[in-house]
Amino acid sequence: MRVLVTGGAGYIGTHTLIELIAAGHEPLVVDSFANSVPEALVRTGELVQRTIPFAECDVRERAALRAICADFNPEAVIHFAGLKAVGESEERPRDYYDVNVSGTLNLLAALEGTACKRIVFSSSATVYGVPQYLPYDEAHPCAPASVYAKTKHMAENILTDWQCANPQTAVTVLRYFNPVGAHGSARIGEDPQGIPNNLMPFIAQVAVGRRDRLMVFGDDYDTPDGTGVRDYIHVSDLARAHVAALGAAQTGTEVFNIGTGTGYSVLDMIGAFEKAAGCSIPYRITGRRAGDIAAMQADASRAADLLGWRAELGLAQMCASTWHWQRANPQGYNGE
Ligand code: NAD
Ligand code: UDP
Repeated sequence: MRVLVTGGAGYIGTHTLIELIAAGHEPLVVDSFANSVPEALVRTGELVQRTIPFAECDVRERAALRAICADFNPEAVIHFAGLKAVGESEERPRDYYDVNVSGTLNLLAALEGTACKRIVFSSSATVYGVPQYLPYDEAHPCAPASVYAKTKHMAENILTDWQCANPQTAVTVLRYFNPVGAHGSARIGEDPQGIPNNLMPFIAQVAVGRRDRLMVFGDDYDTPDGTGVRDYIHVSDLARAHVAALGAAQTGTEVFNIGTGTGYSVLDMIGAFEKAAGCSIPYRITGRRAGDIAAMQADASRAADLLGWRAELGLAQMCASTWHWQRANPQGYNGE
């Protein structure tokens, strides 16, 4: 299929391009490079031994996006493009609504008149909010707490309503849990700008000597060791879920949790990374981070039942691949 991949130069996008091309799809990336670099697409192209076609475009630029869509005439879209930092979303709400919500509306407008019948959307487990029960299944009520989570939930609703009004189309909402890890080649991986917000890239930067120590945000949660528990998923497993979604239902809207179903604490993650990297990760326990919840994990059985997708890579592979990427690229893509 001809697949338009918005945000395809990013962390999850590049890993997904590899799986898409392996499955015989024909992608075109649209990216503004707001949080990525063209080098990521060059390297992805090297891994699949072909040039990845891309158009530099902001999804908010309606005329430019429309021209790209008219020319490429996609049969499907994977919509990754968006802003994703929860803390930053509280400081810059207008930007988050603009990119994540208006950007999605613009995309739908740009697709009018094209062959596109199917959209796969990058959503997030944050749409659920404070857990009423765990693991979250897709029927868990949504009560997004942050601006970021609200924008994702709004975009889900926009796409669902668009699908209802266009019954010949299919929308697949993937609610990702905590993506980590890197491609086995160590050529592509997560390259956060500035101080990493997320646990795994922070640990990796401590291991490679870019930061002195990790601050562990709270050890007084109601979890087995008191630190926060999350459902970490290898980015290559997550990438495969997008290919499975493209091959799924012909019409209708479907929502899937994409996680492993297993939760690990912050201390579990430190221990597993130390083992993978063969070094110690200095850390200090500090206060809780505002807005954090104690634990979350996915019931991912719906994706297994209906998409035939399940996570295959475990914690050791998540840590080893992160370490290999970080060690080979201590400054991320900027090193080259
Ligand atoms: P990323 O920042 O690496 O990738 C997003 C890509 O979108 C980047 O290449 C960026 O340059 C591009 N982009 C941003 N604004 C744009 C705009 N206005 N127009 C065009 N392109 C634009 O992030 P990622 O981790 O690969 O995340 C991809 C998607 O998955 C995002 O929508 C994110 O919200 C969602 N998601 C990510 C996580 C996570 O922890 N990484 C978890 C849940 C959901
Ligand atoms: N965390 C931490 N120190 C950090 C970053 C994160 O202790 O520098 C903890 C955080 O409190 C949470 C877990 O690690 O319990 C995962 O955090 P992350 O930001 O990666 O994911 P999210 O909280 O968005 O699920």
